[in-house]
Amino acid sequence: LTLKDVGEFGLLRRLGLYDRAFPSGWVGPGDDAACMPPPAYSLVLTSDLLVEGVHFRSTTTSARDLGCKAVAVNVSDVAAMGGRPLAFLVALAAPAETPVGWVEELYGGMAEAEKAFGCLLVGGDTSGGPTRVLSLTVLGVAPGPGPVTRGGGRPGDDVYVSGTLGDSALGLRLLEAGGVVRTAPERFLASRHLRPSPRLALGAAIGAGGVARAMIDVSDGLLQDLGHVARASGCGAELWAERLPLSSELVAVTAAEGIDPVGLALEGGEDYELLFAAEPLRRREVFRVAQGAGTRVRRVGRLVEGVGVQVLARGLPVAWRDLRGFDHFARRR
Ligand SMILES: [Mg+2]
Repeated sequence: LTLKDVGEFGLLRRLGLYDRAFPSGWVGPGDDAACMPPPAYSLVLTSDLLVEGVHFRSTTTSARDLGCKAVAVNVSDVAAMGGRPLAFLVALAAPAETPVGWVEELYGGMAEAEKAFGCLLVGGDTSGGPTRVLSLTVLGVAPGPGPVTRGGGRPGDDVYVSGTLGDSALGLRLLEAGGVVRTAPERFLASRHLRPSPRLALGAAIGAGGVARAMIDVSDGLLQDLGHVARASGCGAELWAERLPLSSELVAVTAAEGIDPVGLALEGGEDYELLFAAEPLRRREVFRVAQGAGTRVRRVGRLVEGVGVQVLARGLPVAWRDLRGFDHFARRR
């Protein structure tokens, strides 16, 4: 059964988008436009375009994972502004030969994301097209003193990162290497790539408390994303290699495969962790807020005068590519 067989209205009926309940004052899918009461705080808006062959391949990405991840990476951007996601719109183009089952799975993944992230699908559009293209727009609010941008950092600020780094990049490598993900650590790493967990509670708590001066989510890799924060804040940054948070799963698999874990943590990308800068006098408050949000954070460096990001290993500047073989855990033994 393909899209050609059911048509646009048949597809919308099958997806059940018109039969859903919404909070009072909201208008969901099926009318000319979606509506919701105006928020009392700053609106946060973000959108993302995913093109088959450019951002995903339907041969290697399941429609369900794609739908869930598309929402996850967008709500992660809302969290990175210190905001909380409320609703999203979905626009989908697909060739007429596309199996209806693929579209149902895609929306099934987005329905999982709605539950997981507390963000409701309120509308969108579908169309025929030469290739599969998915566009998401997420709307949220930043209920704090104001949105947390990339540009508010100052030299001397502490730099923190949530969770662990490099898992997603290693998970992707395992999936691409043949796809057989067998052991528990391998499954963990693959799921960190396929099903990222955006740090929504932490982002909203940091925003509400006005704890951080600058924030970004780690999508391009720690080095690049810290570079974005430093540049926007008009300063430089240093990162401490021995402080990078690595999962035990990443440590085990990189050791077994002879892969450099520090390189993955610095450059891997698609971690969807939060990276933020805060004044040193807020250190206790940072850890208290993180604990309240149920998310681990670690201080991994600081903002400094100058430009660019310098990696230090035990206090000494290094070209991080020379860190291959650097024993990340030497300090703890
Ligand atoms: Mg981002």
